[in-house]
Amino acid sequence: MNDRKKLLLIGATTGYQTRVFAKAAEDLGFELLLATDRCHVLDDPWGDHAIALRFEDPEAAAQVLAAEARMDGIVAVGDRPAYLAALAAERLGIPYNSPDSVLACRNKFIAREQFRAAGLLVPHFHRVTLADGPELAAQTAPYPCVLKPLGLSASRGVIRANDPREFVAAFRRIESLLRDPDILRLHDAQDRFIQVESFIEGREFALEGILTAGKLRVLAIFDKPDPLNGPYFEETIYVTPSREPAQTQREIIRTTESAVKALGLTRGPVHAEMRVNRRGVWMLEVAARPIGGLCAHVLPGLEELILRHAAGDDVSSVAMAEDAAGVMMIPIPREGIYFATEGLEQARSQPGIEDVIITAKEGQKLVPLPDGASYLGFIFARGESPDRVEQALRASHAHLRFEIAAALPVL
Ligand code: ADP
Repeated sequence: MNDRKKLLLIGATTGYQTRVFAKAAEDLGFELLLATDRCHVLDDPWGDHAIALRFEDPEAAAQVLAAEARMDGIVAVGDRPAYLAALAAERLGIPYNSPDSVLACRNKFIAREQFRAAGLLVPHFHRVTLADGPELAAQTAPYPCVLKPLGLSASRGVIRANDPREFVAAFRRIESLLRDPDILRLHDAQDRFIQVESFIEGREFALEGILTAGKLRVLAIFDKPDPLNGPYFEETIYVTPSREPAQTQREIIRTTESAVKALGLTRGPVHAEMRVNRRGVWMLEVAARPIGGLCAHVLPGLEELILRHAAGDDVSSVAMAEDAAGVMMIPIPREGIYFATEGLEQARSQPGIEDVIITAKEGQKLVPLPDGASYLGFIFARGESPDRVEQALRASHAHLRFEIAAALPVL
């Protein structure tokens, strides 16, 4: 008899993070069924026989998954996969977040409404439909403000505007970004809107946690030491543990607990982002998934913890490493065709640096924020203190030079 636990892993692509999870599941002895977005499956690239789903039709995709054999748990890597996981879990009778709670996380308007109803600090916010255009809204916006699409992630399309002229320009830019065929394909009703929020001054943090029956276990709080004041909000450095006073960290945790409850999330990994100023902690968003892409490297053992938790194991006594660690998401300095990186060896040999990974591929077109959705690569550091880790990341990055050629205009 086969008594190995069986897990369903849903990823938007068969990309790096999905692969790391799949490998960890294999090492733990789980049987794994992988499901991914049909559009990103290229002839079974790593022989995993992933189920190719139509992500643009989540109900039908969940139906396909529900027809699969018995499952002991579900893990989703990414925002859209988390929604599919919720629909499939409901049909399979597996404990997971409700579909509504995951939808609320994925919709910046609903999330804000629920935060406000729960009494959390929220900026002034409202939605403008694309069809209405920016002119009228620009007259009444609360400056400085931030314009953002409702359903994208990684700060894509998030733009600050200080006056009506910048508002109109930002609106038009987001509008054209939403015409991207990859976005249009998913027919998301929320992509008919642009959200306008008053700008929240303050320092920014992220919290990584895992929920069991609605109770939050904090795995890490990250400082984001680079100021994020716009006009675009490119994330660079994450460092843990946080250097904030214990009182601020407690407030960050308390606010995350309230936000999770407001959204209705109950189970599995959460990644929350927040700003802190003299008025308190302002939740920016909570995602029902782990920290994205390669960044999870910073928390060794995160994948194993999430997989075992999903399979129903009691992981409450599994400790996470407590040493100082950090990652720098290497920003794309300008648009163009990527050719090469110089200075890699020096960047890697800086004290405290664990690795420098360039994810851009030769010949790839690089698009910086706010239109693009990726980074050039990642720098990882570990050390005796968060300050040392931050210094190591900056010193390492200073050695890197990127060869990027101007892209020829398409005629
Ligand atoms: P995404 O899901 O794409 O990351 P967010 O809504 O979290 O979108 O915004 C991305 C970043 O933009 C945040 O991390 C923050 O730095 C900045 N930002 C978003 N909304 C505001 C706001 N109202 N005030 C100040 N900064 C904001």
